[in-house]
Amino acid sequence: MKKIVIINKNREKRCDSMKSAYIHIPFCKKICTYCDFCKMIYNNSWIMQYLDALESEINDNYDGEKLKSIYIGGGTPSCLNNDELIKLFNIINVFQRDEDIEFTFECNLCDINENLLGILKKSGVNRLSIGIESFDSRLLEIMNRSADYDDALSKINLCRKMGFENINIDLIYGFNIEDVSMLKSDIKKILKLQPEHISTYSLIIEDNTQMGISKIKPIDQDLDAKMYDTICKMLKRKGYNHYEISNFSKIGYESFHNINYWKNNEYYGFGLGAHGYIMGFRYENTRSLNDYLKGKFHLKENILSKEEKMQNELMLSLRLKKGINIKEFYHKFGTNIQQVFDFNEVINNKDIIYKNGYIFIPENKFYVMNEILLKLL
Ligand code: SF4
Repeated sequence: MKKIVIINKNREKRCDSMKSAYIHIPFCKKICTYCDFCKMIYNNSWIMQYLDALESEINDNYDGEKLKSIYIGGGTPSCLNNDELIKLFNIINVFQRDEDIEFTFECNLCDINENLLGILKKSGVNRLSIGIESFDSRLLEIMNRSADYDDALSKINLCRKMGFENINIDLIYGFNIEDVSMLKSDIKKILKLQPEHISTYSLIIEDNTQMGISKIKPIDQDLDAKMYDTICKMLKRKGYNHYEISNFSKIGYESFHNINYWKNNEYYGFGLGAHGYIMGFRYENTRSLNDYLKGKFHLKENILSKEEKMQNELMLSLRLKKGINIKEFYHKFGTNIQQVFDFNEVINNKDIIYKNGYIFIPENKFYVMNEILLKLL
């Protein structure tokens, strides 16, 4: 693994040669009706065993290189108690950290307090991702979640007071009872909280979720597109950079960790159901707690061919506003991207722009990215 000395803070450059690590904590205090993630109800009789297994997985697989980002997600990592959190951070101490590391911890609003923030701060966390999703009581009820604007404001003020200067808020939209005015109200409230980063998710109803089982109908496609457009316009007006299809940030607060995924770079995934991409193979961990506790971590391993890697590069990098750097593609694969994919049609009808050494999808076509990819693959 090639290591580099960081001589500048260009985030995308740093993503090219250093790895990230994702750690999955699958426990939640309650289950959201739309959730398709690997999760289970919090039960403290399992957590210490889970953390022991996580430690073994990390010790068996981590190669000791410096990491540029760590992301603790879930599940709900913030639902762990003090002892569990301290054990988790002791395990993670094995990671060598880049001096400019981005270290994210996912929190539920209700778990945020001085005690939690103190532990996070002491452990080096410098980015919080808070899953608010919506402030609308009708949508929250459908999701089996809770959030209150005044509570969010006081919790975020507390985070600021405790020194957290990089906060992401998640927003979900696209419920079949939702209209554009409900969405606008949610966006306005989120903007008043002044997060550095906003991740948006259009609701997808998966069959294996409570919503899927209840046969909840999806939103009308045209309305979904209108909502996406509303989000883009409102956030852009407030100075957020639409740097990835669903992600917006203040300048300089783009997520290293996510850019690393979208640039098709390698990363570790540790924990139940986690995915990783190391030494040219992608792996998926088991979702069975029993198997995981017995040390059977990997469920699937897939060595990627050069063609698959190039296709992944295309699909992931086109999610970024900047798109694909043609020279970087050549350095990675030894092939000119235009000899691999036929861009003639998509460039002619302006689905793809080729400019200043980059190939990218213009923002006004982000919403139809899947259709554009279909023409290329
Ligand atoms: S959405 Fe998050 S908090 Fe809700 S059940 Fe899934 S993992 Fe847990």
